[in-house]
Amino acid sequence: MKNILPIIGLEIHVELKTNSKMFCGCSANHFQAPPNSQTCPVCLGLPGALPVPNRRAVEWCIMLGLALGCKVPSVSKFDRKHYFYPDLSKGYQISQFDEPLSQGGKLDIATAEGIKTIRIRRVHMEEDTGKLQHATLEGKKVTLVDFNRSGVPLVEIVTEPDIRSGREAREFLMKLSRIVRYLDISDADMSRGSMRLEPNISVLISQSPANISRDYHQLPDDELPKYKVEVKNINSFRFVEKAIDFEIKRHLAILEKGQLPVQETRGFVESKGETVSQRTKEEAQDYRYFPEPDIPPMRFSKTEITRIKAQIPELPDIKKDRFIRQYGLSEKDAAILTENLNKAAFFEACIKLKKGDVKQIANYIINKKINFTQTSPKELVRDIVLSRKESQVDSAQLSQTVDKVISDNPKVVSDYLNGKEQALMFLIGQVKRILSGKGDAGEIIALIKKQIQPC
Ligand code: ZN
Ligand code: MN
Repeated sequence: MKNILPIIGLEIHVELKTNSKMFCGCSANHFQAPPNSQTCPVCLGLPGALPVPNRRAVEWCIMLGLALGCKVPSVSKFDRKHYFYPDLSKGYQISQFDEPLSQGGKLDIATAEGIKTIRIRRVHMEEDTGKLQHATLEGKKVTLVDFNRSGVPLVEIVTEPDIRSGREAREFLMKLSRIVRYLDISDADMSRGSMRLEPNISVLISQSPANISRDYHQLPDDELPKYKVEVKNINSFRFVEKAIDFEIKRHLAILEKGQLPVQETRGFVESKGETVSQRTKEEAQDYRYFPEPDIPPMRFSKTEITRIKAQIPELPDIKKDRFIRQYGLSEKDAAILTENLNKAAFFEACIKLKKGDVKQIANYIINKKINFTQTSPKELVRDIVLSRKESQVDSAQLSQTVDKVISDNPKVVSDYLNGKEQALMFLIGQVKRILSGKGDAGEIIALIKKQIQPC
């Protein structure tokens, strides 16, 4: 029997929401600003301009690394990564090569087979590039460059190739983006490009089942396939899942013919749910990395790292577990209530006001889609108390109404007694109509059954 093992790693870029850019004082909020209105000699890459690192961006990058269980070295530096592209005017990107701000972390995800650890290779700091705009000017097709995004702080997160399916990749990314939002360091909005996802995929086929299995998820480097395909332009978690599953099938078909898939970069076409070849790269690109001579290495004391660590709020998984323990919520409800910090804080503020009503408050927040900016916890608690009063009917009134509905509808009652279940629904509806929607359905059913049951 053949064994099939998809090998997937992820590269994620997250734009930080600092006020200013990574190496200059220009505004980093590039959304909707007129083209090239937020630039200076540094972020335009003019000769002689000197970069000065943004302290907050560096600290946020370290914070994310720590939240993902990475180690932060005492020394880190920036490097130049050289390549040519019109949106990169300097001819190099300031990034990090061999001494990133943090490395060696992990993130646990839930899979069908149970909890699985995805190792994180590194979390490093770099700068974003400008943006190309394709347009038609005076009848000519042209490409314009907008440098407002050039130099915006970018954190790159790289995983080890421990992911085995599109589903797992999606699970990982959802957890990662939740952590990023909890830390409040980025919108992590994929539709605006402030979070960008690039899976790399290859598939291993082995004739001897002993060699590989699905649990064998931390594959040694020398056992990895001899090629990999990178997919770009993916702007949702659902599309990542689709692109990966599409690629796995495509590779399998090629491998089964005894061939090796081409090492290349592919783009995802949303309308077709398919990937298409963009450019082939037979060998790994040589970026001629060298240390950035204009920025001295960064040094971090233990106290500084401890101070940054102390700013990390209670993270989603820990909060979820606490909600289950402390409030007796189900796993599912706790997961929904800890989806974002606002919702979780709102829930806890309500509980403080009304300790006895945990279940009701949780249900109310989950089912009614509360707008947290417009409703206060006080208002919500008042609404809950009110709605309970309103839906209460005294038992005498309830049983009187049931009696009346039963005597008014002898035909329906006999239908029900002859086994027509729908007849019961009609009777409940009549009772509810008379009580203008009040009354507990369960209680009404019990009463009707009690009254019409043949003795
Ligand atoms: Zn600038
Ligand atoms: Mn990068």
